[in-house]
Amino acid sequence: MPRPILATVHTAALRHNLDRARRSAVDARVWAVVKANAYGHGIERVFEGLRGADGFALLDLAEAERVRALGWRGPVLLLEGVFDARDLELCSRLDLWHSVHCDEQIDMLAAHKTLKPQRVFLKMNSGMNRLGFSPERFGSAWTRLNALPQVDEISLMTHFSDADGPRGIEHQLEVFERATRDLPGERSIANSAATLRHAPRTRGDWVRPGIVLYGSAPDFPEHDAAHWQLQPTMSLSTRLISVQTLKAGDTIGYGSRFAADGPLTIGIAAVGYADGYPRHCDTGTPVLVNGVRTRMVGRVSMDMITVDLTPVPDAAFGAEVTLWGRSALTGAVLPIDEVAQAAGTVGYELMCAVAPRVPFAPADE
Ligand SMILES: *Cc1c(COP(=O)(O)O)cnc(C)c1O
Repeated sequence: MPRPILATVHTAALRHNLDRARRSAVDARVWAVVKANAYGHGIERVFEGLRGADGFALLDLAEAERVRALGWRGPVLLLEGVFDARDLELCSRLDLWHSVHCDEQIDMLAAHKTLKPQRVFLKMNSGMNRLGFSPERFGSAWTRLNALPQVDEISLMTHFSDADGPRGIEHQLEVFERATRDLPGERSIANSAATLRHAPRTRGDWVRPGIVLYGSAPDFPEHDAAHWQLQPTMSLSTRLISVQTLKAGDTIGYGSRFAADGPLTIGIAAVGYADGYPRHCDTGTPVLVNGVRTRMVGRVSMDMITVDLTPVPDAAFGAEVTLWGRSALTGAVLPIDEVAQAAGTVGYELMCAVAPRVPFAPADE
């Protein structure tokens, strides 16, 4: 038998979350953002649940090829555009749309020999200060692109730094709207947080939700997934492989960081940081055992964690342990955002960090 750890992707939940994003962006088309191997879920595993999207947006050309290999003939957008002039050949061959965020990418296009003009998304740096042309230079970049025979339609995009927080989007939205006022073309500005929190102002022609498709709240802890009616799309589960009975003063694990203050039964679960379960989780991190909520105690080891069995006294060797997502036993949900918070990070990172050694079950409904 392999170790009992297992990740499961929930197709129906992906479909539900996509629909939820759509309801916040009525009349806009939806890019399902599937970068980073669909936020760690696996592009092939999420495809069925997300094929109702209008297009797939990602970064990596190899991932774009995988989307085409699945038979997807609709739009595919490279969110960071090409990294090298040779990438443009693949864009032609696979009919990929790509973002253009810097002069070097325009140079590559101008030098590219193609029979078929390419659809591009011209990106503005409206305040995030990562990728994109400044508002002052945006118009001239557009003019230059528009003059190229290699370029077909030009859409306009930008990305918000604070759609999930108190600073909000107004400062960037205003910059973007002012600098694009006289330009034609479709607009795409909203990520998940902007789609849910700032609709309809951020809707544009295309929204770009990522994290909400995977059932994590974009603005946790201000709002949780239940608030936004999102369902978990990934469950990480394992089993107890041992039970220990402690008396007052006994300690657990490396560094003896946890000492029992009275009699305590603990379970040893087969998951550790080598599976992608964050080592920053410490005593108190929520865990489900047989669908019952309890807490981790002591440190995360490479291959094991220890959990307090007080609320589930009959849990024994083989009991189901849910690290995040849904208990297959009871349907109880442990939001990934709560585990991420305990580790001082965000749900995105946990999903993306599930280790290669963790097997995935066939995607369920
Ligand atoms: C990753 C990404 C998104 C999706 O962001 P979420 O916060 O996951 O919704 C949207 N747009 C761009 C340009 C991105 O890189």
